[in-house]
Amino acid sequence: MELLKKRIVKDGRVIGDDILKVDMFLNHQIDVELLQEIGKEFKRRFSDSEITKILTIEASGIGIACIAAQYFSVPVVFAKKGTHRNVGNNVYSADVYSFTKDVTTTITVSKDYIQKEDKILIIDDFLANGAACAGLIEIINQAEAQLEGVGIVIEKGFQPGRQALESAGVRVESLAVIKSMGGGTLTFE
Ligand code: 5GP
Repeated sequence: MELLKKRIVKDGRVIGDDILKVDMFLNHQIDVELLQEIGKEFKRRFSDSEITKILTIEASGIGIACIAAQYFSVPVVFAKKGTHRNVGNNVYSADVYSFTKDVTTTITVSKDYIQKEDKILIIDDFLANGAACAGLIEIINQAEAQLEGVGIVIEKGFQPGRQALESAGVRVESLAVIKSMGGGTLTFE
């Protein structure tokens, strides 16, 4: 998606060799018009799938998923991080290792919000090692729902997330795939 790639080049900031900060338009300040274009592009790419629900993970996936959901006309469910007393035991859960924070967190989704009949699209901001998606897929499997695919805004193609997901038979659609960003220079696939 050219518009997105241009924005990454203009406003993204490379930290070290493998972290991209996009706080200017995606992860802190949010460019809603760009998110609308992102939502339309996800809808175009998954127009052949019958989606009943979008699943994401707090916090940065929520805004992206909500705007995309307007084009799919489906609800959004987001996995909560950490254990919450007010969620009770009626939850599906999985452990997710965070690449950026170097901690493992338990994510939970109430059993009330994913049904066996659901056909689910996972949406997230980044794909790195695939741990967040793997956790969400584990939750979908616990619910015996169907995974239709994964929609990612920015994939770091030099990390193994796509490979892990595709070898498990998962369809992955990324709107911008970064080939390398060593030395502060970004290249796309
Ligand atoms: P994974 O679980 O695929 O290893 O990493 C994806 C998750 O980690 C995303 O939910 C995202 O929030 C975070 N993440 C991974 N790499 C980056 C990055 O380069 N920049 C930012 N802002 N977040 C990242």
